[in-house]
Amino acid sequence: MNIPDPIPHHIGGAPTGSADGAAFDVLAPAANEVYTRAAAGGQADIDAAVAAARRAFTDGPWPRMRNRERARILNRIADAVESVDEELAAMESYDTGLPITQAKGQARRAAENFRFFADLVVARSDDAYKVPGMQLNYVNRKPVGVAGLITPWNTPFMLESWKLAPALAGGCTVVLKPAEFTPLSASLWAQVFAEAGLPDGVFNLVNGIGEVAGEALVTHPDVDLISFTGETGTGRRIFANASERLKGLSMELGGKSPALVFADADLEAALDSTLFGVFSLNGERCTASSRILVERSVYDGFLARFAERAAAIKVGPPDDPATEVGALVHPEHYERVLGYVESGKGEARLVAGGGRPEHLPDGNYLSPTVFADVPRTARIFQEEIFGPVVAVTPFDTDDEAVDLANDVQYGLAGYVWTNDLRRAHRVADRIEAGMVWINSHNVRDLRSPFGGVKASGLGQEGGHRSLDFYTEQQAVHVTLGDVHTARFGAEGYNDQDPFFSGAGSTR
Ligand code: NAD
Repeated sequence: MNIPDPIPHHIGGAPTGSADGAAFDVLAPAANEVYTRAAAGGQADIDAAVAAARRAFTDGPWPRMRNRERARILNRIADAVESVDEELAAMESYDTGLPITQAKGQARRAAENFRFFADLVVARSDDAYKVPGMQLNYVNRKPVGVAGLITPWNTPFMLESWKLAPALAGGCTVVLKPAEFTPLSASLWAQVFAEAGLPDGVFNLVNGIGEVAGEALVTHPDVDLISFTGETGTGRRIFANASERLKGLSMELGGKSPALVFADADLEAALDSTLFGVFSLNGERCTASSRILVERSVYDGFLARFAERAAAIKVGPPDDPATEVGALVHPEHYERVLGYVESGKGEARLVAGGGRPEHLPDGNYLSPTVFADVPRTARIFQEEIFGPVVAVTPFDTDDEAVDLANDVQYGLAGYVWTNDLRRAHRVADRIEAGMVWINSHNVRDLRSPFGGVKASGLGQEGGHRSLDFYTEQQAVHVTLGDVHTARFGAEGYNDQDPFFSGAGSTR
């Protein structure tokens, strides 16, 4: 692994330190040792990055390129991402604590985002309407401008690709502000983009603390859009900061997603999927099935098997291929998660885990933790924990299951397990969530919308929706025949003119 010290910003096509020379420490979560520093961006660095992005937008070729030409570069980016697969997996695992086996798929998924948007931008068509003999109306699609992209620390490179791919496909230029806990893998983007031939200044990156660099990006007068993924509380603050200049906002926020397991379900499949849903990626997953609601007639049996399997999950060093749950990202986050575990012990019945595994005295390790009989009023039922901790709760009827599922501020995902077709669709429809999976864990066709309702987000990413966010749709109307205009100030003014008689619309 090639680890720079400090990890630089990347502005206008060149690596650069902070204007004031500041840097912050970066920890590896397996032992919580400082292994490098990252340049700490401030206002001056954001100003420089935004100016570079603006120059590339105003004077550079990128926004004006034909879609096919841009798509070629996007495909080359995908190839370059795939070629750093091994290095990326090693970096992600080392910096975030993700088990190496789960870090390995990330490059392929990130590359797929670029291929997908390359295809979409070429295949896309826009609306055009003709009113015979009278008017032609068409949509002129234009990139919005400079996009600020602010991303979290869970699977950081892959989530950055969700924003970079559609922003670039749409013709925007960007400034990326990666999460300060995990700046390592983002340093690969500059290398990938240079190799693929992306013009300098189209991509800019500023590392730094959210309240400083992130906030400077959100409030910058020359940034047109902000796409943010992170905590709901941060989203609220960004919403307020962006309101002054009415910036376009896309927000993917927190979740507390329910999995509803009905007695008639394939319980083996539900067991595998709910375990994977909450304990994969160390439980640091926005769509984690962190509340499992189980029909009472199968509750005891399901819970016993769930707890037994959770207790058998291999917790270990992120670089060990046998590890299923690695180290949580940062000691601050670890303390927060432990706080929830302690609070859960007073709110519900602990049936697995509940603390640090004995064989791992250092680093941010937590045994997969299962609480049973969790009441809806408990903090561990209501609040996002973002770690390997799950709340299991029984229900008696469909209505009660839906009521429990919806009784939180979040609405990101939901999972329904039943073999009753009618119930499956009825319940899915009643769940207040942006995404529902029926008899499935979290797999998604990239064309479908991704996003949350309630406190889980604003707007949706995925397919055309992402391109719509990064592009303006200008409506152009052309008169085909004679122009009929009420002749203000002219002799022979006619109040029967169609303009005044309500026929102003051409339809
Ligand atoms: P976070 O909100 O703490 O930080 C996210 C990013 O915002 C970081 O880059 C941070 O530096 C920056 N930031 C912080 N304060 C800021 C401010 N005032 N102005 C501008 N930027 C600021 O989130 P996190 O802890 O990094 O990530 C975990 C959260 O992300 C969880 O809540 C999780 O559910 C959510 N998440 C949501 C999705 C989704 O698609 N809905 C996906 C992944 C993660």
